[in-house]
Amino acid sequence: MSAQRSVELAPEFAARVLHGVPMSKHTSWHAGGPADIFFSPRDSMDLCSFVRQLPAEVPLMWIGLGSNLLVRDGGIRGAVVSTLGALDALERQSATRIRAEAGVPCARIARQCVKWGLSEAEWFAGIPGTLGGALAMNAGAFGGETWRHVLDVEVLDRRGARHTRTPAEYAIGYRKAQGPQDEWFISARMEFEQRPGIDDTGIRELLEKRRETQPIGEWSCGSVFTNPPGDHAARLIESAGLKGFRIGDASVSKKHANFIINHGTARAADLEALIEHVRQTVAQRTGVSLTAEVRIVGEKA
Ligand SMILES: Cc1cc2nc3c(=O)[nH]c(=O)nc-3n(C[C@H](O)[C@H](O)[C@H](O)COP(=O)(O)OP(=O)(O)OC[C@H]3O[C@@H](n4cnc5c(N)ncnc54)[C@H](O)[C@@H]3O)c2cc1C
Repeated sequence: MSAQRSVELAPEFAARVLHGVPMSKHTSWHAGGPADIFFSPRDSMDLCSFVRQLPAEVPLMWIGLGSNLLVRDGGIRGAVVSTLGALDALERQSATRIRAEAGVPCARIARQCVKWGLSEAEWFAGIPGTLGGALAMNAGAFGGETWRHVLDVEVLDRRGARHTRTPAEYAIGYRKAQGPQDEWFISARMEFEQRPGIDDTGIRELLEKRRETQPIGEWSCGSVFTNPPGDHAARLIESAGLKGFRIGDASVSKKHANFIINHGTARAADLEALIEHVRQTVAQRTGVSLTAEVRIVGEKA
């Protein structure tokens, strides 16, 4: 692990940040080394003030529920901001429009939309992340996709200034939403369809379908690779004979070949080695080069 840099923070924040926080506590893979600085803001104003006083040369990263994140064992140099529990406002703005802050879990959006008589948000119930992560990833499932519903987003830049941006300012694609560099999502206004009388049947059915086909409850980050055009990563991995293939305490799920499971003591290096092995084997046996969906960050141990 590289040495932590000492960072001068405003006194108000120096007392509230944590140092050397293991990212294994903040990722659904339960792996990953320490973050030099870990900050849980009280709310969006507090977060803006933190970013404003953070010296410009300190790398900054925001996380939600860490459900799409592989943090290497050497950890993260710089500051990590956790939006969970901080940016948690969720409100209805009109018959069909809602505003949600980035730390709101997607499942809460799904359930609340049903209560408000809004449909087309049910698929959010199966995404075990926050809205911020869903915006960054353009998360989607069962035909639904995050950015299809976005009217505009509020972002914070590295100097601590807020901006409102429209979807036109992003290159949006499958599991991708590329906007201006060094900006993070604070909130989004989204639109759904009115459907009076809607109940949670749709959500329950989607969750049941997931339980049948995916290793829910085990430590994973969901699909490791994006689906190549016209095919499925899981099919290619299975056809390469990799179901159940193991490195250390990490293995390719026998239930869904595009999931990699940490059985308890896998390190990020094991998970990354397995990702690389799958990629190379699939390329050799099928000629298809898979692209990782999971975001790999941090330093090697
Ligand atoms: C069991 C399981 C099933 C899954 N199924 C699906 C699925 O069906 N469809 C799907 O799309 N995904 C799925 N995922 C992956 C994951 O849940 C989504 O990508 C989710 O949107 C990530 O949200 P998060 O809050 O956990 O983001 P994190 O993992 O914390 O972060 C992911 C990326 O987003 C960035 N980020 C987080 N918050 C912000 C913010 N506020 N502003 C800017 N950037 C930010 C991070 O820096 C990082 O680069 C699944 C994961 C698991 C574990």
